[in-house]
Amino acid sequence: MTAAGTARPRVVICGAGFGGLWAARTLARSLAHADADVLLIDRNNYHTFFPLLYQVAAAELSPSDIAYPVRSILRRSRVRFRMGEVTAVDLAGRTLTVDGEAVPYDQLVLALGSVPNDFGVPGAAEHAFFFRWMHDAIPLREHVLARFERANVEKDPDLRRRLLTFVIVGGGPTGVEYAGALAEMVYGPIVRDYPDIAARESRIVLVEATGRLLGAMPEHLGAYAADRLRRRGVEVRTGTTVERISATEVRLAGGEAVPTETAVWTAGIKGDPRVAEWGLPVGRGGRVPVLPTLQLEGQPEVYVVGDLALLAEDGEMLAQVAQVAIQQGKHAAENVARRLRQLPPRPFRYNDLGVMAVIGRNAAVADLRGKTFRGFPAWMLWLGIHIAWLIGFRNRALVLINWAWNYISFRRAVRLILPSGRRSPNGS
Ligand SMILES: Cc1cc2nc3c(=O)[nH]c(=O)nc-3n(C[C@H](O)[C@H](O)[C@H](O)COP(=O)(O)OP(=O)(O)OC[C@H]3O[C@@H](n4cnc5c(N)ncnc54)[C@H](O)[C@@H]3O)c2cc1C
Repeated sequence: MTAAGTARPRVVICGAGFGGLWAARTLARSLAHADADVLLIDRNNYHTFFPLLYQVAAAELSPSDIAYPVRSILRRSRVRFRMGEVTAVDLAGRTLTVDGEAVPYDQLVLALGSVPNDFGVPGAAEHAFFFRWMHDAIPLREHVLARFERANVEKDPDLRRRLLTFVIVGGGPTGVEYAGALAEMVYGPIVRDYPDIAARESRIVLVEATGRLLGAMPEHLGAYAADRLRRRGVEVRTGTTVERISATEVRLAGGEAVPTETAVWTAGIKGDPRVAEWGLPVGRGGRVPVLPTLQLEGQPEVYVVGDLALLAEDGEMLAQVAQVAIQQGKHAAENVARRLRQLPPRPFRYNDLGVMAVIGRNAAVADLRGKTFRGFPAWMLWLGIHIAWLIGFRNRALVLINWAWNYISFRRAVRLILPSGRRSPNGS
């Protein structure tokens, strides 16, 4: 009999993102039916391919192109799925609370990802659009499109300017990618579809606190990204911090106010603050420190992976990126299986494949194991890698068709403003 009171040991994986899903798939392949019951839990019934989320926000792709139902992924596997919100973890009692119900475990993999970090900037939580989940991207898309409809009938030039100004906070890959995609949309299909709005009336401002864009990449790639964005009409403001955000302006350090109804926050992430309430240790960035085996110290039956895990290698914290989460998810699953077979766990070692970011049509940057690429070759690499990593043939085919259509026609396929029922952060 196990701690969970069942005949078979019970392995529970929380989160069907990159870490959790790859852990589940690895266990599905490696465990025989009699070894354990494996349960994957997520608050959503789908897995999201976050690297393309900005394309949903920029009306390039539909939500269903980058999301895939978890049950379909796990079909014909022995892993069971439960849709539900994990609201508590009782480490001593080896039990989770999921939608108010106790769920026991013998081994647990926590892969709950991260939440936006607004660094306490006043007004950010209330008025900025965060860029973390699918349910952030869709209202942002609709809000941006609705600004053009409103500006189209607005006579007051100051109000028009405010409606048509978009401020993106954070010059990392997400901020750069969204700024590039927004510029392509605003100065391309939008300008053509709104004959009463002049291109010069729109303004896209990318604000970055450090001295350069894409801080995790070599400096020349950050400079290339800034140059390309500027050529595409984006105002790149490096070395600039945001002091306050309201429903009608973004105030920069030094007192400059940028009138806008659209502030998009891509400046940072942190661990879910609830993990501290659940009694897990919390380190830098709200992340949970783990041993090299990805286990919690003193709690060998608990593994933490992906954005939530804090682990250093060669003196540097591992980044919060998809490859780290995928590799850690697989590794934690292998250690779960080893523990079931009474074998000692193995330490994790990250195989860094590199980083890349796309600026828009024909322009991207990539740093792959020290080899850098930019422009068209990097863009082709980016396209190929992202298609390869998408889950499901249907999604790959749809994304390819959409990209080809956008590329040939200079249009955006998903420019619908739907009555979503969600209010945007500034109440409009
Ligand atoms: C907009 C955006 C763009 C990105 N672009 C890139 C990129 O180009 N390249 C790259 O390498 N990385 C990128 N990343 C980072 C990458 O997506 C993350 O590092 C990766 O998703 C982390 O995997 P994870 O499994 O830790 O968390 P996630 O993939 O975030 O998964 C966490 C899962 O847990 C679920 N969950 C959370 N809390 C609960 C709860 N309490 N109860 C139930 N379920 C819960 C969530 O629904 C989610 O499915 C991007 C991230 C974002 C947000």
